Amino acid sequence: MSRTKLSRTSPALALLAALLLFMAGCQAKKPAAETVVTNARIYTVDAARPWAEAAAVKDGRFLFVGSAKEAKRFQSKDTKVIDAGGRLVLPGLVDSHVHFVSGSASLAKVDLSGTKTVQEIQERIRTFAGENPSAPWVQGRGWMYAAFPGGLPEKKFLDEVVPDRPAIMRCADGHTSWVNSRALAMAGINRGTLDPKNGTIVRDGGGEPTGALLEEASSLVSKFIPEPTPEETLAALRRGMAEAARLGVVRVHGMGGEFEALELLDRLRGEGSLTARFSVTMWVDSPGPTEKDWKAYEDARAKHNDEWISLGGVKLMLDGVIDSGTAAMLDPYETQRGSRGKLFWEPAAFKKAVAEINARGLQASTHAIGDAAIRLALDAYEEAARAAGNRDVRNKVEHAEDIAADDIPRFGRLGVIAGFQPFHANPEPVWMGSWVENVGPEREQRAFAWKAVLDGGGRLAFGSDWPVVTLSPWPGLQVAVTREDLDGKPAGGWLPQHKVSLADAVYAYTLGGAYGMHREKEEGSVEAGKLADLVIVSQDIFEIEPRQIAKTEVVLTMVGGRVVHGALK
Ligand SMILES: [Zn+2]
Repeated sequence: MSRTKLSRTSPALALLAALLLFMAGCQAKKPAAETVVTNARIYTVDAARPWAEAAAVKDGRFLFVGSAKEAKRFQSKDTKVIDAGGRLVLPGLVDSHVHFVSGSASLAKVDLSGTKTVQEIQERIRTFAGENPSAPWVQGRGWMYAAFPGGLPEKKFLDEVVPDRPAIMRCADGHTSWVNSRALAMAGINRGTLDPKNGTIVRDGGGEPTGALLEEASSLVSKFIPEPTPEETLAALRRGMAEAARLGVVRVHGMGGEFEALELLDRLRGEGSLTARFSVTMWVDSPGPTEKDWKAYEDARAKHNDEWISLGGVKLMLDGVIDSGTAAMLDPYETQRGSRGKLFWEPAAFKKAVAEINARGLQASTHAIGDAAIRLALDAYEEAARAAGNRDVRNKVEHAEDIAADDIPRFGRLGVIAGFQPFHANPEPVWMGSWVENVGPEREQRAFAWKAVLDGGGRLAFGSDWPVVTLSPWPGLQVAVTREDLDGKPAGGWLPQHKVSLADAVYAYTLGGAYGMHREKEEGSVEAGKLADLVIVSQDIFEIEPRQIAKTEVVLTMVGGRVVHGALK
């Protein structure tokens, strides 16, 4: 046999031998799974095989996904079998925008979410203050502007229920604080106090601070709140982890606060209580990253770099929010005396920062809500991509609430991911009222334009921005497909052209999110070889009335093959 012939035939021979071995192996014995989930209706989010009945798990990964009959062959006497009882199974849910530390801390504060009147708000605060008499501060969050006459809260309403100690209540959007007279006095804020850069102390006609602090003005008061000790933060994170597991969230993109808590997250991981995977961004403010920032990033990346905790690029903040008129708009607001809001960065400095981030091969995630901020983010991404040779950085625009018509197709064209939070488009009037009023009817048409971005070839990554709204993905999924509030109003949906299909919404909460964190090869779908992250849910969201999706409960959450919430016999 000549050498030429040998080399020509050997690949085919090798293939045949491998095939024979493989077949022999199949007939003899499949590797035993540690766990088999069976009798399930698995929506895999794997385009090649969207539905399956069973999944076998070994060493934290899916070993097999397919029919219940075939899955049996992976069972041994030691295999734990989870009978899903015919229920729907989804990949573990991915939240592409959270503030996990403050979200976790919020679980132990006054929860004002969903409140619609001043009375309701006061009642919750009064109850909390009464139950926590020794707390030096009364803290809470979750109110929205339209619950207050005039669209902004006033100190007198808070003084009525907390007269004895400082109190601070964050708006649901995190951009405005509402404080009482005690807190203003403690911070020394009076009619003579100047507004900080990027912030406003709201004042009445006579110049007296009203108790509403916009953007950076919040920190004039919040800096007096004692920092939680590491032990307190750790305790909060444990509660947050339990919350994530309960809701089926297995992977998050940390958009602020997590970088500083990396060591604590690592401690949780060490003791086996990490039940969600973290991709953590480093927050960089104007005028841009310093050498010290880069050293901190590289040190952190060297230390935390696996499927549980890894670094996920840089977070930048380009503007505020539409509801309070601080988002940067191309044209003036309808209601803010000709203001267009403002950018938190000089455009040139922002572009330079993005270029530097991308040149390092890192992803930039930019908070940009107003159409002017979104345009600048896209411009910066476009220029940086050109300079960095189109590296696969997957830049994100976070929120992207009101995109100018011309910019919608740029997401697809530039490969920029739109990081939307569907529940933020909840059209309930107290939640959305100020938003709609501020932009006016023309710009309202492009509000939360998920479908338009998709149709333009753009990618979506859904999330919550917890604690802005609940960490639960289920109300978000419902609003994504209905554009109605949770009471079904307005019937047929607010701007129904922006609804997405349930398959697209689930994708954006799973594989789409994983893609946004460069994790799509490992996570985001139920596929052999991927990490064994899944949820079994109480109802089949593909079969029920879409208005019921928010009521979905997670019966069981599995992360890396381990059941971290619930149990099924
Ligand atoms: Zn955020």
